[in-house]
Formats: sequence, C-alpha cells, structure tokens
Amino acid sequence: LEFCQKLPKIELHAHLNGSLSPETLTVLNTPIEDIKTYQLLTKLDCIEDQLNLAFTLFKIAHNATNMIESTYLATKHVIEEFHKDNVIYLELRTTPRAEPQMTKRDYVNTIIKAIREQNLITVKLLLSINRGHCLKESEETLNLILEMHELYPDIIKGVDLSGNPNVGIFSEAMFIKARKSGLKITLHCAEVLNNEEVKQMLEFKPDRIGHGTFIHPTYGGSTENWKLCSDLRIPLECCLTSNVLCNTVQSYKEHHMCEWVENNLPFNINTDDKGVFSTTLTKEYFYAAHHLNLSKESLYNCSCIAIDSSFASEEEKLKLKTYLKEWKDKHL
Ligand code: 5GP
Repeated sequence: LEFCQKLPKIELHAHLNGSLSPETLTVLNTPIEDIKTYQLLTKLDCIEDQLNLAFTLFKIAHNATNMIESTYLATKHVIEEFHKDNVIYLELRTTPRAEPQMTKRDYVNTIIKAIREQNLITVKLLLSINRGHCLKESEETLNLILEMHELYPDIIKGVDLSGNPNVGIFSEAMFIKARKSGLKITLHCAEVLNNEEVKQMLEFKPDRIGHGTFIHPTYGGSTENWKLCSDLRIPLECCLTSNVLCNTVQSYKEHHMCEWVENNLPFNINTDDKGVFSTTLTKEYFYAAHHLNLSKESLYNCSCIAIDSSFASEEEKLKLKTYLKEWKDKHL
C-alpha cells in the first residue's frame, strides 16, 4: 500500500460529482443522513440492482453542488484530495447541468475557474453527455461544449458518454461532430451486456473506453467485438471497486482487466467515483497489485501507459514521463 501511495499516479476516469468525499459534502452543508445514504453502496452485500442504486445516489451529490459557490468549492476539494493521493495528472469529467440558480454555462465556467485557480496538479476537463437525456438536450449540451472548448482548448480536452447504461442510446453523429472540433472521445462501453451497441461504439473507434466489462467472451461478449477491441488496442479505463460494488463483476480477482493484462492490451487504473465508492487511486492500485498479481514494475508501467492514453498535449506528456522516470530512478 505504501508503494501505491508513493507512486505518482494518473487518473483518467473520475466523475466530479461522484468524487465528493464525505468531508467535502460536509463542507457543502449536506445533511448527515444524506452523506450516510451516499455511502450506502460500500455497506451493502450483493443486492440485484446495485448499478441502478449507484445512479440514484448521484442525486445527493447534485443537491450539494447546485449553486456556483458550491460547485467551485467541490471542484477545489476534489482536486486537493487527488493531489494528496499523489495523483500528478487528473482528467476530471462532469455533465454540464442547469439548476434554478445556475446555467449549464455557469456550471462549466465555475469548474474551469476552480481548475485554473489551483496550481497543485495538471487538471483537464472532459465534458459528459448523459445518455439518459433526450437528443435535443444532448445536442444543446454538445453545442455548449464546442463553444467552451474554443474558449479553453487547453483545459477542455474531451467528450464522454456516460449516465445509466440501461437507458438511452449511443448517438454517433454527435461524437463525430465533437471529434471534428478536435475533442477526444471516451465512451462508457459494455457496462451492461449489449453486444450490438458495443459493436457500434468500437467501430466508431473512440480514443478510450470506460469499464468495458462485457466485451470479452468470458463475460458474454461476442468474439467479433473482442477481436475488434483487441485489434484496435483502444485503451481501457478500469475502475475495479466501482465494478465490484455495482455488482457487474463478481470479485476483484475475476475482474475483466485480467484479459487486458494477459493479452498485453493498454489499460489504466482509475477511481470512477471515489466518494460514492469510498476509494482512492492508491487503493485501486493496491487492489490491482493484490488481486491481479501486478508487480511494482507493472504498477509503474501502468502510470506510464496512462500518460500515453491521456488527452494531455505531447509537451505535457513528455514532462509527466520525465517526472515519472526520475521518480523510478530513485524508488524502483
Ligand atoms: P457528474 O457528471 O454530475 O459530475 O457526475 C455524476 C454523473 O456521472 C452521474 O450522474 C452519471 O451520469 C455519471 N456516472 C458516474 N459514474 C458512472 C458510471 O460508473 N457509469 C456511468 N455510465 N456513468 C457514471
């Protein structure tokens, strides 16, 4: 665990509102009962609909960040906590959200302000399209994303498709448009068994995919999809605890990440929602080492490969790699 703490880490899959710790929720004046409910998933033994339950819990975080001030504070705290966990590069993602006292534009501007006003670590922003929203709302969100990307091309780096995987569809046209504007694309893919959608997503060739649970045939995926996925070598964003607690994988040991390890395919280790799942990136690295037999060297390589898969500029990647290399020379 100590090694995992000390290792400089790269976080590529963290949802802002799922990352609020109980301490941050307290600062944001969230009622104590809500904070306890927010952490419910870590206390439950397998019940069937755990993935859907996770989605109802995000409402608590959303209530806590429904104003400009609280959104600012939440972002600041989340970045500070990742920094304390020795994360040196963070890609934070969030869904632009309108509230009675805050427009979607205010929301995104506030997060950008919080990112720019800190100098602890390099932080990039990915903006999410919620697959549960109707096409009209998603298109509005996309137009805002494209506008904001023109204003802050160094911070807004990509578009993500997330939200409850049991609802909505993957609308390829929107992501083609985003890609044409120079944004990178990451898609939550195969969180539930849906071979047809997975095929459509893989054929689009996203820059990264999130979770990827039901792609390999062992987990019900089609041979064709697994071949496509491994031929394309699209980096996988792994979120071990999230998948175990949402009950989409049976245990850490049986996590589909082992297929990526065995086949030497690119993957990175992430927290997903460190608040909802009571985790840290240090813990996720530790679980990977412990349950999937990754050596210290492999964990270090994992950080390096994550840099390659990140949406940072080439110059930023080089800086991060130099930093890691210097760390390795001293500690490994
Ligand atoms: P936000 O976008 O509000 O900052 O973060 C919370 C939102 O991220 C949730 O409402 C949900 O749309 C999305 N999200 C968080 N975790 C997951 C996950 O594991 N899978 C998917 N598909 N979406 C998620």
